[in-house]
Amino acid sequence: MITGQTRLLGVIGYPIAHTLSPVMHNAALASLQQQIPDLNFVYLPFAVQPDQLSAAIAGFAAIGVQGFNVTIPHKQAILPFLNQVSAIAQAVGAVNTVWRTEQGWAGTNTDIQGFLAPLRTCQDWQTAVILGSGGAARAVVAACAELGFSRIAVVGRNQDKLSQFKQSWQNLDQLTVHAWSDLEQLLPQTNLLVNATPIGMHPNSEQSPLAQPEIALLPAHALVYDLIYTPRPTLLLRLAEQSGLAAIDGLEMLVQQGAAALEIWLQQPVPVAAMRLAAEQYFKD
Ligand code: NAP
Repeated sequence: MITGQTRLLGVIGYPIAHTLSPVMHNAALASLQQQIPDLNFVYLPFAVQPDQLSAAIAGFAAIGVQGFNVTIPHKQAILPFLNQVSAIAQAVGAVNTVWRTEQGWAGTNTDIQGFLAPLRTCQDWQTAVILGSGGAARAVVAACAELGFSRIAVVGRNQDKLSQFKQSWQNLDQLTVHAWSDLEQLLPQTNLLVNATPIGMHPNSEQSPLAQPEIALLPAHALVYDLIYTPRPTLLLRLAEQSGLAAIDGLEMLVQQGAAALEIWLQQPVPVAAMRLAAEQYFKD
């Protein structure tokens, strides 16, 4: 129940209407409040235009917002407003979770934890191939480095952006960047293939970044991980499953990055199952 004690959490982005975060977070907060009546938070979406970011952050400080998620287009732009940025967020160059401290706002990036959550049980990591070199690809590179991949190959369509991408990871010798035409050589050695492009996302559900003959080049043990969660599954994952490959979609990453953020704000374990159920239900409805 919203009362005079209710504290505020939220997400900033522009546009923001598509966000699933309020559904997941408010489900978790409602479930927690049944066990801990004093835990009284609400999580709201805030459409913040790029030129209003500074005013929004000052307003959040003034009205006592406890913490917030950050999504496109503010993930990099938020950095100058933070007094403290975790090492992982500095490496990725983007923040998706901000919380209040006595010294001001602190930020981190929970996308890495989110991406890793469904992969923890796998062991034999050698070559990861990542399609795309945008913000999500950066979190995936950090996660693959943490998993100990001996080779991390990022594939993109723009040579200048790829060169900049490589340069921004100066201490990551195992990182290489490639044109799409290199895939024919890369795919037969791939243990983990990640789609970090929007190819195949609703409403372009009939598209796939790889066609069946390319998927057939992957070894039988390869895992195909698509960061997209609408539709579920994507065409890429359907084709992978038809080839007998293991496939993971982006919903668990979304749920786990949210759970990691909520744990930071509440400083206690959070009901991940309630968040997952709320997200799955949202797509069924
Ligand atoms: P982004 O920063 O815009 O990067 C997108 C990347 O895909 C860029 O490298 C872009 O290349 C490339 N790309 C776009 N269209 C392409 C095409 N037709 N052919 C080849 N390359 C193309 O986006 P992002 O934030 O990284 O997000 C990427 C995807 O991950 C989105 O589908 C997003 O929904 C998903 N995602 C999921 C989660 C989750 O929790 N599951 C979290 C974050 C992101 P250029 O730079 O050359 O344009």
